[in-house]
Amino acid sequence: MKIICVGRNYGEHAKELGNDIPEDPVIFMKPDTAILKKGSDFYLPEFSEDIHYELEVVLKISKGGKYIRKENAAAHFEEIALGIDFTARDIQSRLKAKGLPWELAKAFDGSAVVSDFVSKENYDLQNLNFSLTKNREKVQDGNTGDMIFSFSDIIAFASQYFTLRVGDLIFTGTPKGVGQVLENDLLEAFLEEKKLFSLRIQ
Ligand code: MG
Repeated sequence: MKIICVGRNYGEHAKELGNDIPEDPVIFMKPDTAILKKGSDFYLPEFSEDIHYELEVVLKISKGGKYIRKENAAAHFEEIALGIDFTARDIQSRLKAKGLPWELAKAFDGSAVVSDFVSKENYDLQNLNFSLTKNREKVQDGNTGDMIFSFSDIIAFASQYFTLRVGDLIFTGTPKGVGQVLENDLLEAFLEEKKLFSLRIQ
């Protein structure tokens, strides 16, 4: 199983980190060891002084394929979740400045939080509200209508390069409002009004 992630997929978030709006999806991957075990707290790693949350909608591939056409892409996932793409922002900034790959900042153990999955049938995927609170205060408030690349765009693009298999996950990008987590913070994620997970930082 692999985890494909999209960076800079919300214009306001790209701007808050000083990045241009991309012409193609910015793609990176996390290994399966990045998934935080269900019910675990997140432990701040020793190698970073600046771990950021990034709340994202996550797709689970239900039908594999390669060179999937955009018009057929919706048939390749049935369920969605919310997740956090934890990012060591200090490390990422150093890597970006040198033009180096991001894995050390993005793919470490526990960096991929994934909630339980829900059927996509109950939701309007082009107009999906999702939000994150930190210590009960709203810090991120996204709507999938603001994505630069839609779920179908991402599947079509990524599957040109990587064969998608059943069970693969796609993190579809974070809206603006990313920020640091500190010990004892409590993160809670909501899809529309429904809470999908809460997570304690240690
Ligand atoms: Mg992200």
